Amino acid sequence: MQKEPLKIKTLKDNNRMSTQDLLQLITDKIKEGYTDFEIEGCGQHNIGGSAWALNKDNKLIFKISNPGQRVGAMALPKTEIIVEGSAPADVGWLNSGAEITIKGDCGDTAAHCAAGGKIYVAGRVGTRSGALMKHDPKFEIPEFWVLKNTGSFSFEFMGGGIAVVCGYDCENMNSVLGHRSCVGMVGGIIYVRGNIEAMSDSVEIKQLEKDDIEFLEKGMNIFLKKIEKIDLFDSLTIFSEWKKIVPVANTENKYKISVSEFRKNKWIDGGIFGDFIHDDFEVYSIPSTDNGRVHIPVWHQENCIDCKICFNNCPQNAIIQNNKLYSHDSKKCIGCGICFAVCPKNCWIMKDNRQEVS
Ligand code: SF4
Ligand code: SF4
Repeated sequence: MQKEPLKIKTLKDNNRMSTQDLLQLITDKIKEGYTDFEIEGCGQHNIGGSAWALNKDNKLIFKISNPGQRVGAMALPKTEIIVEGSAPADVGWLNSGAEITIKGDCGDTAAHCAAGGKIYVAGRVGTRSGALMKHDPKFEIPEFWVLKNTGSFSFEFMGGGIAVVCGYDCENMNSVLGHRSCVGMVGGIIYVRGNIEAMSDSVEIKQLEKDDIEFLEKGMNIFLKKIEKIDLFDSLTIFSEWKKIVPVANTENKYKISVSEFRKNKWIDGGIFGDFIHDDFEVYSIPSTDNGRVHIPVWHQENCIDCKICFNNCPQNAIIQNNKLYSHDSKKCIGCGICFAVCPKNCWIMKDNRQEVS
């Protein structure tokens, strides 16, 4: 039988329930059959996201006030999270299918790495929001809806999914996506209404097409109902005010640059924190060969079937084969362990080469 929503107050007589105790309590109550939670939070982290493994049959609903970071992080389908008010950083981090509604603003990195589900935000979101969003075609496309604007560096390295930034109440802003958003974006779509500037050259700005308008019209109705702002529908569906941001097609983006050049000229003018620290912009190679390796591969003849899988997969062409005997060239080998990983007969082991420091 469906149980009544469970109300949890996390501050009693000035004693705050720890994150660990709260998550344990939720876990225990789910096992008892509770599915609806009303949580008066006190900055506890990860609410709504860590109970996913228990959520086999029933939808879980979390109504939360005053959550801490990562509300809804890694949450799976059949989870609904509603935050009454604002939430700090990492809302829906790596969301994998939950529907998350934030009735206020979000801190930095909302929807960071989101891979599924929907995130609805009634206010603004902070820097690096939507960065690394992605879409695995086996699952539904993740969506990230924001009523107002995002902070700078948002949608960096976005690989998939759909983001909608409505630019409401942002008429005086130079850019509703902040500064240098979309750097390294390789997939997905961002619909945006309002001014944008200082965009990365990884992307291009296009006019909406019929499919875009259909998607926005349908989705906007749902979004605005979720955040209880349906009265804004008419003003936010004047589609001549919208643009679409997509990655530059691969064929047009053939120009390749070195990592040093990227750091110096593309990442941020003058480099990250360039105003504060001196940086020579050199990029040093990390993998080391010979005695600098952390691990050294050692081959054992026993069981080897001479399939050459190791030989063909070594990224350094370091494996030497000679009449069914295998070894490696230590001047080329970086100790990556790929030979060890791919050998079907466990002929390679990786010997620890770290030196004891006394
Ligand atoms: S450890 Fe890596 S580099 Fe070295 S031989 Fe094996 S695959 Fe090649
Ligand atoms: S992958 Fe393993 S079994 Fe195949 S040749 Fe290399 S060491 Fe031998």
